[in-house]
Amino acid sequence: MTAALRAEVLARFPGARADDDALARARTDRSGTPGSADPLAVVRAGSVDEVRAVLAWAHEQRVPVVPRGAGTGLAGGAVADGALVLDVSGMRRIVHVDPVEEVAVVEPGVLTADLDAAAAEHGLMYAPDPASAAISTIGGNIATNAGGMRCVKHGVTRDAVLGLEVVLADGRLLRTGRATAKGVVGYDLTALLVGSEGTLGVVVGATLRLRPRPHVGGTVLATYPDVETAARACSRVGAARLRPSLLELIDAATLAAVADHTGTTALASAGAAVVAQTDGADAPTAAAELTRIVEVLRDGADTLEQDDDPARADELLTARRLALPAVEARGHALIEDICVPRARLAEAVRGIERIAAETGVPIYTFAHAGDGNLHPIVSWPRDAGASGAQRPAAVDDAAGRIFELAVALGGTLSGEHGVGTLKRAYLGLELDADALAVQRAVKAALDPRGILNPGKAI
Ligand SMILES: Cc1cc2nc3c(=O)[nH]c(=O)nc-3n(C[C@H](O)[C@H](O)[C@H](O)COP(=O)(O)OP(=O)(O)OC[C@H]3O[C@@H](n4cnc5c(N)ncnc54)[C@H](O)[C@@H]3O)c2cc1C
Repeated sequence: MTAALRAEVLARFPGARADDDALARARTDRSGTPGSADPLAVVRAGSVDEVRAVLAWAHEQRVPVVPRGAGTGLAGGAVADGALVLDVSGMRRIVHVDPVEEVAVVEPGVLTADLDAAAAEHGLMYAPDPASAAISTIGGNIATNAGGMRCVKHGVTRDAVLGLEVVLADGRLLRTGRATAKGVVGYDLTALLVGSEGTLGVVVGATLRLRPRPHVGGTVLATYPDVETAARACSRVGAARLRPSLLELIDAATLAAVADHTGTTALASAGAAVVAQTDGADAPTAAAELTRIVEVLRDGADTLEQDDDPARADELLTARRLALPAVEARGHALIEDICVPRARLAEAVRGIERIAAETGVPIYTFAHAGDGNLHPIVSWPRDAGASGAQRPAAVDDAAGRIFELAVALGGTLSGEHGVGTLKRAYLGLELDADALAVQRAVKAALDPRGILNPGKAI
């Protein structure tokens, strides 16, 4: 059956491949979730018509399809599980940037950083900046509602999407939203599709909001005796009505990992660090905001350093930028992504420390603290196996407890990475039976045969 279908895909679609290399590369995403089987085949689509043709055929044949961008996802959302992988990363045209309306129209495979660079030529920016901006696609960002560091001030992907072109499960092309600053005609299908993780349609085009590119102000790095004191300082920044363009927290375990990784000792013994940056319409506005943030962060800090020089600012941000690679250098990493109300950040970090102590599993935490979005990284030794099946039970136990903690604090299982396959078993913690039933009814209305990314997200 698989062989016959595979042969048909190869014969029908010019961009189809089923060689070992193509199948292996599309089997999982950056989370490393093993999945149950290689893809049926991989179709690298070059146009909207090709995407439509693939989905029309798959719908008729009831063949499951996994949409795929760059495969940098951290939730197992693009894991193939034997499905036909529809890779749209080759559709990478920036169709146009309209500097008057401050919008861009793009294909789904455009890399996030490339769009931001194109916007910069007009004094504009594309605000959502996942740390993967140089390697992830706009289509994947839309499908996961990606966030990033400057989202604390400038909003996440959903805030930037004005309209979409989406191919539905049966091959129809749906246009949602608008290109104007305002618009309220019909249900907001654009918002529904953003974050739907490839389960409702394949994004083949997007109209995106750009914003005036601000002047980047200074940067401040403060260290604290412990992570709770640091978390409380971050919560006070929000409570003081301040708007940093970046407000990140790094715990002691992560700082030690960064010190090992870089061979520097500067922050090795700090109990926690907070780094903040400001921007504004001009240099004085950004500088004034930084001054006020420094006043708030100074309270309880062991050390505090601020600088307006962009090169030095970059150095102050180094520990945060290297946090993930440094932790990954120590062993396998299950990257979690909970979000809690900002006022409960300190309780969240205390809870995560307790979970690490009780399960005996190392957990490294850094956070987009201004959003209450924490990335606790649950780590285990390299020789213990990487895949879900081989992961020590204590790692999954720790992850489950982290999700329970997030919900108990009034938060959510995922701030920006999505549910994918990794968090699906925990959905019931956050969505009650009625909420789940409505979500599944929406899925059934748009994808009645359940071919789009089955087993993911909801
Ligand atoms: C080093 C690193 C840093 C990261 N930092 C961040 C961060 O700061 N913030 C953040 O939010 N994420 C981050 N991520 C996670 C990841 O980059 C994002 O989730 C990103 O949005 C995924 O984009 P992608 O193109 O790689 O999508 P993929 O991984 O290919 O797919 C992700 C999901 O989207 C679906 N999908 C992809 N393209 C489409 C499409 N065109 N239409 C419909 N569905 C589609 C897939 O089916 C899957 O469910 C990071 C990842 C890495 C490796």
